Amino acid sequence: MKNLKLAAARPDFSRSIIDVSGVKLGGEFVVIAGPCSVESEEQTVKTAIAAKKAGATMLRGGAFKPRTSPYAFQGLGLKGLKILDKARKETGLPIVTEVVDTRDVSWVGEYADVLQIGARNMQNFSLLREVGKSGKPILLKRGMYSTLEEWLNCAEYILAEGNPNVILCERGIRTFETYTRNTLDLSMIPAVRRESHLPIFIDPSHGTGILSMIEPMSLAALVAGADGLEIEVHIDPSCALSDKDQQLSVPQFERLMKKLEATRAFMLELDSRIDSEEKGSAHGNAGCQPGDAAGNNTAIGQQGSASSDQSRINPEAGHFKDSVD
Ligand code: PEP
Ligand code: MN
Repeated sequence: MKNLKLAAARPDFSRSIIDVSGVKLGGEFVVIAGPCSVESEEQTVKTAIAAKKAGATMLRGGAFKPRTSPYAFQGLGLKGLKILDKARKETGLPIVTEVVDTRDVSWVGEYADVLQIGARNMQNFSLLREVGKSGKPILLKRGMYSTLEEWLNCAEYILAEGNPNVILCERGIRTFETYTRNTLDLSMIPAVRRESHLPIFIDPSHGTGILSMIEPMSLAALVAGADGLEIEVHIDPSCALSDKDQQLSVPQFERLMKKLEATRAFMLELDSRIDSEEKGSAHGNAGCQPGDAAGNNTAIGQQGSASSDQSRINPEAGHFKDSVD
């Protein structure tokens, strides 16, 4: 891919792991959960406690909201960041929060563990340079009109400032389809794994905008090899000040987390079963493996395998291992 130096996949297809207070993005399946907007201390802290209990390992929440209308709720700003700090103290969950202005990067960075660059700012090059200089881990959302190549070049802007801590997040793109809020492009999971060493997350909340689609898209993202999810959760979605139609309630989030864990366990079991079956039949099959001309096995069980030799060199393979290598 053109002009990529630092974001491009490495020759050995090894992938970056970004450690945020012990949470290893790119090394374990990570769920970032929390409200669209920080609205009050009670709403944020209660959501954080519930999200942690359900298994989330990072907290999201917007204090600066880039809204379509200038009259819509714009976020609580500094007050919101202080609430997030309180939620972190209560739960220990590291904070992911958006920064929208170059002038705010350094002081927002004092509250955030991960700075989020929203879809609307993906190609705000001065903001990218500024967050690059901050050295903070950056969650870079895909712009809603951007190609993979443009997205990775935006990651390159951050990396070129000497900041190696970039996480990519697919959140849906604009297409002719209007049924969903955006068209969630899950094909970006294997595409990013092929072209880059950076962790790839999926945001099924903004990606669909439809409550009932968040669970199936989350499970599909896990199976397709995503490194994690960013999901909107609210203690009382019907009263949310932004994105009320797409925020999961706590019981809905708990159910999703159970399904994700069971799916992950299933994929692990499937990988080891297929691996041992392949080992068992290796001599009879020599020279005649199913797969494409490049030698990449296309069988579904191979997708998540981290233990067979072949999947180690398959750039698109996900990871379902229990712990970080
Ligand atoms: C968000 O995650 O709060 C958000 C506004 O997302 P996006 O930039 O993807 O629209
Ligand atoms: Mn939102």
